[in-house]
Amino acid sequence: MSLFDTVSLFHTDQYVSLEQHKEPAFSAPLRRVPLRGNACVPLWDPYGGEMYPVVRPGDRCARFSLLARTKTNTDRMGPSWVMSPVSGYVEELRTVSHPLLGRTFCAVIRPDSDVAPLSTTPHSLHAMTEEGVLRAIHQAGIIDEFDREPLAKKIAEAKAKGVREVAAIALDDSPYVSSALKTVSEFGMEVNDGLSVVLKALDGGSAKLAVYDCDEIEMNAERFNFGFVEVIEMRGGFPLISKFKREYYPKGDFLPVGVQALRSAAQALSSGEPQTESIVTVSGDCVGQPMNAVVINGTPLEDVLRVVGVTRPPRYVILGDTMTGKTTDDLQTPVVTGMRAITLMNRLEKPDKTECTRCGKCVAVCPMELPVYEALRHYERGETELAADFGAEQCSGCGACSAVCPAGWEVAHIMRHLKQDKKKRQQQEP
Ligand code: SF4
Ligand code: SF4
Repeated sequence: MSLFDTVSLFHTDQYVSLEQHKEPAFSAPLRRVPLRGNACVPLWDPYGGEMYPVVRPGDRCARFSLLARTKTNTDRMGPSWVMSPVSGYVEELRTVSHPLLGRTFCAVIRPDSDVAPLSTTPHSLHAMTEEGVLRAIHQAGIIDEFDREPLAKKIAEAKAKGVREVAAIALDDSPYVSSALKTVSEFGMEVNDGLSVVLKALDGGSAKLAVYDCDEIEMNAERFNFGFVEVIEMRGGFPLISKFKREYYPKGDFLPVGVQALRSAAQALSSGEPQTESIVTVSGDCVGQPMNAVVINGTPLEDVLRVVGVTRPPRYVILGDTMTGKTTDDLQTPVVTGMRAITLMNRLEKPDKTECTRCGKCVAVCPMELPVYEALRHYERGETELAADFGAEQCSGCGACSAVCPAGWEVAHIMRHLKQDKKKRQQQEP
């Protein structure tokens, strides 16, 4: 299997049309992936702090009990925590190299149904202060699948800027991915409740729901009974979030939140449960039964593939969005919260890599209007610092530039690299 760090699956000459392949995964019933063996749970702090395990090999651990925490507080919200997604026994603590998280310490847990789950305490939204709601979201450890950022951090930052509007994002505009649309169609009321929770934490006013509208999928209109929320169905070119921002929030004064994170926020309040699972689209040209599946945090990829069936050996196993995901060849890689797709592909619709022709398509498509090929020109010459000065820090990582490049360059990956490089240099500056 070829292994790329990042891979953009599709190539298109036209900015506005990426062929979708959301069926039959979208219409298939939502299934829960059973854990066949151990769960390998990353003890990872999304704020970048150091996690300290509070369990040791041999310890009994209940579902929702504490596995690890940071020593220091995250702003005023308290330490970050990782809760066990299953009841069982800790087999070992070990370091794993994860395509999305890097090298991460993990707790390997052997499930045991004789160990009772920890009971959780529901909260009353109406009786809580804004700070209390924010703390409950923080303690639930919710990662927003829209941008893989902690939801509590996003709310705190938006609040500090005076943002009072929230948009639920179900813009599944990448080929094969339909997990956001499935979440809306199956759990619309919980997404709606999650919007109320986030608005309360924000002391905010109004909310919108942005839903991807494509010919391939028929959404049931009755499921759009979203009460106070304005539902916006959007069509158009990838990345659609840019069009949504331009049309509805040209000043950028809103908080975008993925619909799975909103559902988790509703659950954190209604039942006090932390986020321990994700809805993941499992699809691609090597998958026997494409579907959306509920996957527990720490489930090995192998267990997921056993449920959907693999019809031929994939050349690419892509974790995350099909436009910006990362590949792996290790089927023991654990699925983590915030991961919304697994795509198995044999055929890639990409041209062979040739020299950059300065055609400008990457520049034309960039939603941030970055001079992308100027950055690439300096990068090619090894002038990394200079290359990063062409707006790398503003790159959203959407992957559109890679998708349109007729010369097969993974431009988005290069921009991401330049962005990280610049950030590191800025941190080292006195
Ligand atoms: S990087 Fe690709 S899209 Fe951009 S100018 Fe070069 S050939 Fe064209
Ligand atoms: S440079 Fe960044 S923001 Fe612009 S198209 Fe490429 S990945 Fe998207």
